[in-house]
Amino acid sequence: MSGSLMQGPLLISDLLTHAETFHSHGEIVSRTVEGPIHRYTYKDASQRAKQLANLLESLGVQHGDRVASLAWNGYRHYELYFAVSGMGAIMHTINPRLFPEQIEYILQHAEDKLLCVDLSFLPIVQRLLPQLPHLERIIVLTDDAHMPADAQQTLSKGNHPPICYESELAKHNAEYEWPRFSDDAGAVLCYTSGTTGKPKGVLYSHRSQILHAYASVQPDAMNLSSHSCVLPVVPMFHVSAWGVPYSCTLTGAKMVFPGARMDGAALAELIEDEKADFLLGVPTVWLGLLDYLRQNDKKLHTVQRVVVGGSAAPLAMIKEFQEVHDVFLIHAWGMTEMSPLGTLCTPTARLLSLPLDQRYQYQRKQGRPVFGVALKIVDAKGEALPHDGSTFGRLMVKGPWVIERYYRSDASALENGWFDTGDVATIDPEGYMQIVDRTKDVIKSGGEWISSIELENIAVGHPDVQEACVVGVPHPKWDERPLLLVIAKPNHQPTRESLLQYFEGKVAKWWIPDDAIVVKELPHTATGKLLKISVRETHQKHYL
Ligand code: ADP
Repeated sequence: MSGSLMQGPLLISDLLTHAETFHSHGEIVSRTVEGPIHRYTYKDASQRAKQLANLLESLGVQHGDRVASLAWNGYRHYELYFAVSGMGAIMHTINPRLFPEQIEYILQHAEDKLLCVDLSFLPIVQRLLPQLPHLERIIVLTDDAHMPADAQQTLSKGNHPPICYESELAKHNAEYEWPRFSDDAGAVLCYTSGTTGKPKGVLYSHRSQILHAYASVQPDAMNLSSHSCVLPVVPMFHVSAWGVPYSCTLTGAKMVFPGARMDGAALAELIEDEKADFLLGVPTVWLGLLDYLRQNDKKLHTVQRVVVGGSAAPLAMIKEFQEVHDVFLIHAWGMTEMSPLGTLCTPTARLLSLPLDQRYQYQRKQGRPVFGVALKIVDAKGEALPHDGSTFGRLMVKGPWVIERYYRSDASALENGWFDTGDVATIDPEGYMQIVDRTKDVIKSGGEWISSIELENIAVGHPDVQEACVVGVPHPKWDERPLLLVIAKPNHQPTRESLLQYFEGKVAKWWIPDDAIVVKELPHTATGKLLKISVRETHQKHYL
C-alpha cells in the first residue's frame, strides 16, 4: 500500500526560489577576479539567475545539454549553478588545475555546448578551442570594460563570437518560470581528477543534490542556518565546493566567495572583514592561513568551526586551530563519487564533554556518516570486517548520493550493491571511521601494512616541517619500506636524524621510515593531494 501524500520532484531551482522568498536579505559576497568586492542578496541572485536562464535559452540550450564552467568561487559561478541546472540543463564544472590534455578530454567526453570562463582561464581556452568540435560558444564571465581586446579573434567558435556575460545578461528580463521535471534528471557533472587513467564523470541528479543539501545542514553535520557566515575556500570547480552553495541557499546562510586569492593574507582579511564563522577547505589551504596568522601574530576572532577534508587533517593542525584560535576543526571525508559528503567528525555533546587530549583522538578520525550514507569495511574477498577500531579493510559505501555508474558507462560501478571507495579504513564501535590510506598508497612491509597517512601526520608535528610525504619504495628484504620526504619550514633545517627520531614512541618501531630526505617541492594533483605515484617513481631505487 502506498502512502497518500503528494508526489513532487526535488529540484535545485526550488532552493533559490526559497532563498529569494524567505531569505531575501541573505548576503552573497565575492572577491572578484576584476578586483573589487561584490555584494548582493539571494533576491538579487535569483533575479539574475532567471535573466541568465533566458539568455541561455536564447542561445539554444535545452534540457540535458551540458554547459561547462572554468571559474573561481564567485557570484557569477553561483548564478550559473542555479540557472543551468534550474532550466534542466547540466552544470559541468571543470577543474582548471588539471592538465590541458585532461581538460580537453573532459570537454570532448561531456560534449559541452557552451563554456563559461573567468578571465584568469582564457589562455587555457584559447589553446583548446580548435580541438572542441561540440562546443558552440564561449561566454566570458566579466563585463564590457574587462573584455579582452582580442576576444573576437581568439575566442570565436565558428561563426559565433564570444559573449560578454554582463552585457548579454542585461538584455534579458527576470521573468522566467523554472520548468518542472523528474528529479532523477542529471543536474551537475563532475569529473574525478584521474591520477591514473582518464578522468571519469559523475552525474549528480536534482534529487541527489537536494538530499545531500538536507543532510549537510543538520546540526550534527555542518549546522548551517541563516545565522551562519560561510566561507568555502574549497573550489566550486571541484565537487560543487562540497555542495556548500546548495546548503547555504537552503538555509539562507551568508556566503563569502574568495575568488582567485586563497593565500593566508587574503583569507585572513576576508574572514575578518566579513566575520566568517564557518570555513571549508583542504589542509594545504589551512597550512597557509595558520602560517600567515602565526607570523603576523594574529588570531581568528569570528571563526567557530572549520571543515577540513580532501586529505587527512594532521593532529598539529587540529590543536593549533583549537588552542590558538579557539576553533573546532571538523575533520571530514568524502569523494567526487559521493557528491562528496561521507563522514564528518562534528562537535557532538559527548565529544565536547571529553578532556581535550581524549577529544583529539576522535578528531583525528574522519568521523561518522551523515544520515543517508552507510559504511562498511571488507577484506579482499568482500567479507565484512569488525568495527573494532583496529581491524582495517576496504571502505565500501552506499547511499542516495553515491555513484551507481560513471557518466556514459554501461557497466555498474558497484560490487554487490556497494561502491568501493579505494580507501582503506578502520571503524570503531561508536562508528568513527579513520582513513588508513588509499589502497594503492598503503605500504606493504614484510607482509604487514603501514599507513603512510599516519606517518605523515606525525611528521608534520615536527617543529621544522612544513609538509610531509611518506611513500613505500621497493626494498630487497621487506618488499617495501617507508621513505619520508619533507619540505622544511622557511629558515628551518631539519636533520635526517631528528626527523627519524621524532617517530620514536609514537608508532611501532618497524613503522619508522628507514630514511628521510629534505626536498624543495612535492608534486600535487589538481585537487591538492600529494601525487604519490610520481614520488614513488622518482625514488624507486632508493633502498635497492
Ligand atoms: P576531494 O578531492 O574533494 O576529496 P576526490 O574524489 O578528488 O575528492 O578524492 C577523494 C579521496 O580523497 C578519498 O577517497 C580519500 O582518499 C581522500 N580523502 C578525502 N578526505 C580525506 C580525509 N579527511 N582524510 C584522508 N583522505 C581523504
